[in-house]
Amino acid sequence: MQNKKVAVIGGGPAGLMAAEVLSEAGVAVDLYDAMPSVGRKFLLAGKGGLNLTHSESADRFAERYGERRTQIEALLRSFGPQQLREWAHGLGIETFVGTSGRVFPADMKAAPLLRAWLNRLRHPVHGGAGVQFHMRHRWLGWAEDGRTLRFDTPQGEARAQADAVVLALGGGSWARLGSNGAWVPLLAARGVAVAPLLPANCGFDVAVQRHLPAQGQSLPVQAVPAAAGWSEFFASRFAGQPFKTVAVSFTNAQGLTFQRKGEFVATATGVEGSLIYAASSLLRDEIIRTGHATLYLDLLPDFTPERVLAEVAHPRGSRSLSSHLKSRLGLDGIKMALLHELLSKDEMHDATRLAAAIKALPLRLVAARPLDEAISSAGGVLFEVLNDDLMCAALPRLFCAGEMLDWEAPTGGYLLTACFASGRQAGAGVLRYLAA
Ligand SMILES: Cc1cc2nc3c(=O)[nH]c(=O)nc-3n(C[C@H](O)[C@H](O)[C@H](O)COP(=O)(O)OP(=O)(O)OC[C@H]3O[C@@H](n4cnc5c(N)ncnc54)[C@H](O)[C@@H]3O)c2cc1C
Repeated sequence: MQNKKVAVIGGGPAGLMAAEVLSEAGVAVDLYDAMPSVGRKFLLAGKGGLNLTHSESADRFAERYGERRTQIEALLRSFGPQQLREWAHGLGIETFVGTSGRVFPADMKAAPLLRAWLNRLRHPVHGGAGVQFHMRHRWLGWAEDGRTLRFDTPQGEARAQADAVVLALGGGSWARLGSNGAWVPLLAARGVAVAPLLPANCGFDVAVQRHLPAQGQSLPVQAVPAAAGWSEFFASRFAGQPFKTVAVSFTNAQGLTFQRKGEFVATATGVEGSLIYAASSLLRDEIIRTGHATLYLDLLPDFTPERVLAEVAHPRGSRSLSSHLKSRLGLDGIKMALLHELLSKDEMHDATRLAAAIKALPLRLVAARPLDEAISSAGGVLFEVLNDDLMCAALPRLFCAGEMLDWEAPTGGYLLTACFASGRQAGAGVLRYLAA
């Protein structure tokens, strides 16, 4: 291995992990990244508390990868949540299990871990040259010989050769941090099958049915076609505000159901946040198939439908409907505003219909927010065109790892764990390839 040279392109968690495995085996590693520094998305992930992995059972953990369970489970067998925690400890980073079972570094941050990691990659304890970092090198594909790597650098185009190449270019979200999905056509042109990149763990735009008074009277109302986004009133008052402890349920055309209690946030045009992200792959796919997805919101998940109906129907005397609902059910603020936003006046003043809406308020979603805004990407290089070591069948010597592979998972540490695991697998795969 001593005289072998490997190029790792992309310095996120996956690329750095591949570089580490290779460098520890004595292979010379050149790591290229388009940005002035590596690990930018990893650092961003640390801003809200770096959720490294999850402590649930291996079976439950593997389930999170849905249709790609088999492929990701194979990677986790060599480097799963426990190995990841031990690896972090090896960098001097203690981890703890939060109340939800999620695993975080003791200080919740990504920066100290990345700093210690980069230091070890540059100055390995086992000796050797360490990983050579080439920043501001945007990979452009291959030269005419199909083998030489081309990079755009501030000094003009640079070229490089390597015995093997690991691509760990990330997905297509948050392009300003480096991963912009520009690699998709480069690989497709070389016969590597790639599923289109789609937003995952993303927000959605709503469409609201507006109700207008019929001509010349205030009741009955007539509905006009649903318009994209909230009303100006709702958006200006409530964008950025949370819906606390609600439940959402959604059943797609195939009968797959998502049901969970939690929180989410209203945006200027729709909804986002943990509860929405958790349902996002089902919602996104339904919108792709049918043009919309209707989510049902339970605004009072701790109240039975009977109790809600009894409280709504309770005589309210001269009190306004708002103060009645607030005093009897604690409904106010954004929840109350949403009822006004989505229900007609008729419905608001019909106790049976209002009570039913409080427990199952239909919210029509019409578009996933753009990929660039998403936490992660679905789609990517198909596992079917890779061998078990993540090497492209069509392009021997080329390995792929991380979010650029075709898998998706919810938030909860599953994204980083699979990126780390696939980076290790690609690194180990290169070693096996070079040894053969
Ligand atoms: C706001 C936010 C919070 C998150 N929080 C968490 C969390 O708490 N837990 C979790 O598990 N996951 C989290 N994630 C997801 C996680 O950060 C990513 O899944 C992970 O960083 C992907 O790793 P990667 O190595 O595959 O790609 P990336 O981290 O995207 O790295 C890819 C690298 O490739 C480089 N690159 C791209 N194209 C080129 C090119 N043509 N030439 C050269 N270099 C190139 C980029 O500059 C980048 O450095 C979060 C994501 C976001 C956006």
